[in-house]
Amino acid sequence: MSVVDNYKKIKVDVDKCSMKAGHKVELLAVSKNQSVLKMDELANSNVSLFGESKVQEALPKINYLSNKYNNLEFHFIGKIQTNKLKKIVEFFHLIHSVDREDVLSLIDKYALDLNKKQHILIQLNIACEKQKNGIAVSELENILNTASHYKNIVVKGLMFMPPYEEDVTKNIKYFETANKLFCQYKSDVFDTLSMGMSHDFKEAIEHGSTLVRVGTYIFGERV
Ligand SMILES: *Cc1c(COP(=O)(O)O)cnc(C)c1O
Repeated sequence: MSVVDNYKKIKVDVDKCSMKAGHKVELLAVSKNQSVLKMDELANSNVSLFGESKVQEALPKINYLSNKYNNLEFHFIGKIQTNKLKKIVEFFHLIHSVDREDVLSLIDKYALDLNKKQHILIQLNIACEKQKNGIAVSELENILNTASHYKNIVVKGLMFMPPYEEDVTKNIKYFETANKLFCQYKSDVFDTLSMGMSHDFKEAIEHGSTLVRVGTYIFGERV
């Protein structure tokens, strides 16, 4: 099957789950480690949301595709390095992975320079995994409070990535916590819960996700 066929199949599943859950869900095609040609095929079939996790890898792809299509949005889902932040703010519509207070002032500054409002999500580390990005639940209120003081930052919601589990049902409790926190702050602006990947997007949507990040099931194994 082509990437476009894969995408369409996942999209049907996402839409079904979305109907059942009773809320809108967007599908982000996670194109990290995938060729720009496959992205081009998708963009040519009207897919407009792409997720990337490395700045150096993403920039040439974004350049190429943005010259060809004017409806694309790129989301940054990787670990944030401060020396790459300027480029991230310049080229990405939404940053999913904000998990430290000290990057907020930089994001605000770069966004101001570009005269843009940078949309961000705060990444949660609910299961307290040492190796994973994300803030502890106890720090959420603080970082949201700090972010609210920056004029060029708009916090659109939360991002969560659970521990890897073969058996997805083991992570339901974390999805529930993420959704509860999301609902606590939800508003017309704070409207995005980024949660769910190839193997668990159905469960994530059932538990409140409004944006799923799917790589492998669309593109195949990363090369
Ligand atoms: C790679 C990645 C994904 C996509 O994972 P798949 O299992 O390939 O769907 C989603 N979110 C983040 C943050 C990622 O790094």
